[in-house]
Amino acid sequence: MTALLAGVETGGTRCNLAIGTGPGDLRATESIPTTGPDETIGRITAVLAEHAPIAAIGIGAFGPVDVDPGSETWGRVGNTPKPGWRGADLAGRLAGELGGVPVGFDTDVNAAALGERRWGAGEGLDDLVYLTVGTGIGGGAVAGGRAVRGLGHPEMGHVPIPRDPARDPFRGSCPYHGDCLEGLASGTAMRARWGVGGEELPPEHDAWRLEAEYLAHGIAAIAYVLSPRRVILGGGVMRAPGLLELVRSELERRLAGYVDAPELVRPGLGDRAGVLGALALAEEALALSS
Ligand code: ZN
Repeated sequence: MTALLAGVETGGTRCNLAIGTGPGDLRATESIPTTGPDETIGRITAVLAEHAPIAAIGIGAFGPVDVDPGSETWGRVGNTPKPGWRGADLAGRLAGELGGVPVGFDTDVNAAALGERRWGAGEGLDDLVYLTVGTGIGGGAVAGGRAVRGLGHPEMGHVPIPRDPARDPFRGSCPYHGDCLEGLASGTAMRARWGVGGEELPPEHDAWRLEAEYLAHGIAAIAYVLSPRRVILGGGVMRAPGLLELVRSELERRLAGYVDAPELVRPGLGDRAGVLGALALAEEALALSS
């Protein structure tokens, strides 16, 4: 019998769980609300305990988190404003509750990139980026077949973006940088700039041209630095009809023929990229331990 794996995606409002060996063999999936760390971790372990024995666990976590395996605080939540979560030992506690099984730990977006590479729109690729454009903007990267992490984890949502104040007087919604990519192009920024959410803006609204230009700027920067073969674009904002096509043509224009544009595609795993990516992290952790 193939050993069962557990994937846990922790988010700001909900945590998603998948137990099985892959998307074609899921024994259980569950979504629980994210409350305080003790209650949330307790509920996750209660679900996992029903499916014991679990051979390895993968965690894709909402940042900031410590993903440096050489750090004393590896697997812990960083400096978050979310009450009670700062310093919470996600990896240590979940692995401990399962009897010290191998644990893979990364950001939710790196997990999504790994998941799409294993079973989705990035299958077979060693160099790809997963970018989610929703309430916030975050990106995960696989380069040379490995998830990119280092001093911290990539924060692609915060790359600087040129803004013309005459055309777009909105100064941006990022509390750290104002008009970075997330500050200009996230769902939060769209709502702040236009007074309504993207889902209420018609396809012919100027908002979408501006949105496509900002996203293309960000993806161009990512393409120049990481040279991904494919960029997988997920998140609620990207569901807007025609936006992906607009971003594609803006990106071509932005790169000006200097480098080939990476393919821009939708996620193959839909909204499950993060939790299935966590399952891929579990698989990786198990392989590394044996
Ligand atoms: Zn920022």
